[in-house]
Amino acid sequence: MSDEANPFESLQSQIDDAAAYLDIGDDVIERLKYPERILETNLTIERDDGDLERFKAFRSQFNGDRGPYKGGIRYHPQVSRDEVRALSGWMTYKTAIVDIPLGGGKGGIVIDPNDYSEAELERLTRAFAREIRPMIGEDQDVPAPDVNTGQREMNWIKDTYETLENTTEPGVITGKALDSGGSEGRVEATGRSTVLAAREAFDYLDKDLEGATVAVQGYGNAGWIAAKLIDEMGATVVAASDSSGGIYNADGFDPVAAKDHKNETGSVVGYAESEEEITNEDVLTLDVDLLIPAALENAIDADLAEDVTADVISEAANGPLTPEADEVLEEKDVFVIPDILANAGGVTVSYFEWVQNRQRFYWSEERVNEELETHIVDGFDALVESLEEHDIENPRTAAYVVAMQRVADAFAEAGSWP
Ligand code: GLU
Repeated sequence: MSDEANPFESLQSQIDDAAAYLDIGDDVIERLKYPERILETNLTIERDDGDLERFKAFRSQFNGDRGPYKGGIRYHPQVSRDEVRALSGWMTYKTAIVDIPLGGGKGGIVIDPNDYSEAELERLTRAFAREIRPMIGEDQDVPAPDVNTGQREMNWIKDTYETLENTTEPGVITGKALDSGGSEGRVEATGRSTVLAAREAFDYLDKDLEGATVAVQGYGNAGWIAAKLIDEMGATVVAASDSSGGIYNADGFDPVAAKDHKNETGSVVGYAESEEEITNEDVLTLDVDLLIPAALENAIDADLAEDVTADVISEAANGPLTPEADEVLEEKDVFVIPDILANAGGVTVSYFEWVQNRQRFYWSEERVNEELETHIVDGFDALVESLEEHDIENPRTAAYVVAMQRVADAFAEAGSWP
């Protein structure tokens, strides 16, 4: 695994690749490459033992041309200014490719949440909510969960915001628990779009998903749900991994039982149906039909890409391939469904949550899933149309062509201030 690629540089090179196919001036492309603004802040909270501790935190508002900034907040020791900038850019093109009326943003706190108590995390989350309060709001910037955050943190942020603003505004944040204004289907949405996009790609490539073998790297919310849903579609999940290692069974295993094992022990490793323990890298290079990287950025660099043998990759994580890995895989004819489409289910159902919050009218899970499918299938069709129209080899570039054009059009239509 490589941590050398700078995610912000990766984003910019992805934008440059697509710009070559677009009739958009360099001045506008320049705008599409940088965040509009970024907050960098230091949060100091009291530990349970009475000591104080400082944490660095960020919120990047990348682009608001198509609607309020939108994107998650992650808690991770690797969070950095450049990572947050990149992630906020990816959100911009993600909301554009699935055509939801939102912009792109992202936040993060540099912390390993495993080392802190729930009370400490609540104090830190509320401190962050106080800090970003002036820049968020249902019409300004709408945060959501990301790596190591979930309903609990979203509920705290909503409560902090509403209390300080003396209002009820559940649409200020998405990914909340159902009783706090969350949406049906939100928790499963990222994994669901990952497999819907894979289904569309298999169909496009004339490949059978029934009986196809699948490896899943990362068994958090996105990875394990993708494993469960692809199994339900008739594919065979043969490998999975998390930060402790990987499991393998050539005949496949029950992804739900593997998740139960992880819940009980903290890892998929040791799961009874596994025939063999393998490494994270083994999972990424297994000879499978479909590979789902569902962990962090830069999981596959150029060296590792040489060893990748999967036919299709559906990126549940954000930025799992370095641009150099992308090139290698393009040469090897691996069809990579880019993160901005494959994992866009999360933000798409966040959009539905926001709509429901604003209307104070809540949808059934069936309706959420149906509308999600429409957005992902339409996004995939737009990607294919762009591939064919411009004769592009790389599906990521094709997706960026569509997404960047949409953002640039909204920017142009807004006109300019004299
Ligand atoms: N963190 C998720 C993502 O990277 C979801 C963002 C959202 O729901 O706004 O797409």
